[in-house]
Amino acid sequence: MRWALVGASTIASQHMIRAIRAQAGGEVARVVSGSRDRAEAYARAHGIPGYGTDLKEALADTAIDAVYISTTNEKHLPQSLAAIAAGKHVLCEKPLAMTVPDAAAMVRAADEAGVTFATNHHLRCSGSHRAVRALIREGRVGKVLSVRVFHAVHLPENLQGWRINSAAEGGGVIPDITVHDADVVRFLLDEDPVSVVAQATSSGMGQGVEDSAMSVWAMPSGAMVMSHESFTHPFAGSGLEVHGTQGSIFARSVMTQKPVGEIELVDAAGRHAIPFDAHDLYVTGVAEFEAAVRGEGQPAATGIDGVKSLAVAAAVREAAETGARVTINYGG
Ligand code: NDP
Repeated sequence: MRWALVGASTIASQHMIRAIRAQAGGEVARVVSGSRDRAEAYARAHGIPGYGTDLKEALADTAIDAVYISTTNEKHLPQSLAAIAAGKHVLCEKPLAMTVPDAAAMVRAADEAGVTFATNHHLRCSGSHRAVRALIREGRVGKVLSVRVFHAVHLPENLQGWRINSAAEGGGVIPDITVHDADVVRFLLDEDPVSVVAQATSSGMGQGVEDSAMSVWAMPSGAMVMSHESFTHPFAGSGLEVHGTQGSIFARSVMTQKPVGEIELVDAAGRHAIPFDAHDLYVTGVAEFEAAVRGEGQPAATGIDGVKSLAVAAAVREAAETGARVTINYGG
């Protein structure tokens, strides 16, 4: 497929250009930036033939099949709607939008236009997360009682821009990381949280936006989820635990962009190391998106997944701001 990048971003340069080019016939044909100089420099650095600042012009290019949107979060809505209106398939970054109704409008527009629209929740593509999900579905832990997600990291210096100081561009750890954790839990348990309580703070990095959050979610099954996200924890490591009536899963160092980590299942028979496939998360995500475009299955995270995971994150922020328990509004 022939792709246009909307956003001369870090995530595209670090992962997505490679992931697109790894597909059979995968081509990055254009990049659109808000700045002509940045577009040109980015195109040169990554060997992209077309570049510019005019989204309309890029979308009018009939040779473009799909658009990957990785601008700052407030731009996802108008850029996705424009791409959908031009008949392009869209893989959009998380959080899909600034609000749940905006995200839902993107999904509706894609449905009406008959194009594939997906959310780049890469952790669903991880061999480790898929192995944990399989263990749960095979009943290896029995009934799930609780999940703990550890996703407190140190935001690299080169990313300490809008994420830590611009609410208008969608900054804050909740839209950045809690939204991923919401998607992971929804993926692992196959159910959507009902309500949340939360606290958030700024612990040295956030300027006008939270850089740390802790929350507890109630699941329809009765399971409880504890989730911790931060930009300011250099040595905390990441992971998740799933505790059930018949066993517990410990997945260490798996909340990451890389196919790394370790999984252990502990049950009455002892401790079992669980192997998992170490494929590239982003290559898998693009492969499944392209397959969905061809009519073969669903993208790893659909547009609806993006809406629902954003709804959880929005509820966590509201709960942290109000101190109240918030029932999640998935927008009907
Ligand atoms: P960046 O800050 O690298 O890029 C976002 C925008 O910032 C770009 O579109 C670009 O604007 C502008 N920009 C980039 N570099 C510069 C610069 N040196 N000077 C001025 N402006 C610059 O963000 P990320 O790549 O980290 O994130 C982009 C999106 O991707 C976000 O929505 C984020 O949530 C998501 N993301 C998803 C990940 C995942 O694994 N799914 C991981 C990381 C991010 P322009 O396009 O106008 O040039």
